Amino acid sequence: MDNHKSTVNPASRRERGSQFWQVARRACQLAAAVDISFFFLFHMLGSPILAWINVGSVAIYAAAYHALERRQNRLAIALIWLEVIVHSALGTIMIGWGSGFHYYLLLFIPALCVSSVRRGAILSLVVGLWGYYIALDILMWFIEPVQPISSQALLGVHLFNLSIVFAMFSYLSFFYVNMVLSAQRKLRRLATVDSLTGLFNRRHGSDLAENEIARFRRAGHPVAFMLLDVDHFKSINDHHGHEMGDRILTEIGQLIPAQLRAQDVVVRWGGEEFLVILPDTGIESALASAERVRNAFRSHDWEAAAGEAIAVTISVGVSEIRDNDDRGSVISRADRALYRGKAGGRNRVEREEVVLG
Ligand code: GH3
Ligand code: MG
Ligand code: MG
Repeated sequence: MDNHKSTVNPASRRERGSQFWQVARRACQLAAAVDISFFFLFHMLGSPILAWINVGSVAIYAAAYHALERRQNRLAIALIWLEVIVHSALGTIMIGWGSGFHYYLLLFIPALCVSSVRRGAILSLVVGLWGYYIALDILMWFIEPVQPISSQALLGVHLFNLSIVFAMFSYLSFFYVNMVLSAQRKLRRLATVDSLTGLFNRRHGSDLAENEIARFRRAGHPVAFMLLDVDHFKSINDHHGHEMGDRILTEIGQLIPAQLRAQDVVVRWGGEEFLVILPDTGIESALASAERVRNAFRSHDWEAAAGEAIAVTISVGVSEIRDNDDRGSVISRADRALYRGKAGGRNRVEREEVVLG
């Protein structure tokens, strides 16, 4: 196992990053569509200057979109910031604070907080944004809008802007929640599954074994354990290379569960050693399952998996839970049985010793 320490997967980080930029591209398209509708709206409302400002905005979003496609992400972000900062100020100064153009500035707060910028820089940017917002608010207390529109039209623009900002906040929130949930799922998988074989790792396997033992104590459900160890695996590595050893272990990760029931739990217990927990199973049927696994190893087409004709066999020790057992004692009986299997010539299944009385 020591050779397979889990590291944070750079591919998954890239994937999350690309998801983010995909959302940024979609946001550019959405913002450009909003600005196109503003162009016609402000023409109708008799505000040609504001209408033409939106043409400039669409051009900036188009440039940002293309920058994102060329992976010039910094340039794209700078363009988006520029557009929102200038557009919200111009819209407010032209038709008044009641237009609600300033709400778009608030979208930067969550966007900044989840960005990969340094903590200190995020704080300065948020404070700067707050200063800008307050300054715009104060300014509008002292000046009249440059190109006022009727109060009904102003209400319409206000409600439209408010609705768009609501929709964008909801979309962003769903995106971030999904991102966090999928990261959590990946972390849980990393913490419980062995990356080479896809089987449960030793830590999680130990927890599952404890659960089964607790169930036995509570309700008396029998549970059996199998400890399996690949025979002469060191010499397979020595003769065919470590990479082929890895391919065989990966194949074993599928071969063992395929011989067992869905509720049986297969764990990579150590390098080339596996533990199987068989719930609601007595020793006799566990022995039969172990024989099935051993025979599957014998008859398996290893050439297809390993690239070379090779014989891979396994030795198995089997034990069943008893009163006063704990995880250590029941597994160590399986281990002693496995040891007898090795000493007796390997490629065999051995049961735990029977205690008399
Ligand atoms: P025995 O039949 O007595 O079990 O002999 P063995 O050679 O299988 O046992 P030993 O414990 O001497 O060697 C186990 C070998 O398994 C040594 C180690 O390099 C190899 N191994 C452990 N983990 C991995 C792994 O993840 N990949 C590969 N390729 N080899 C591994
Ligand atoms: Mg071995
Ligand atoms: Mg071993």
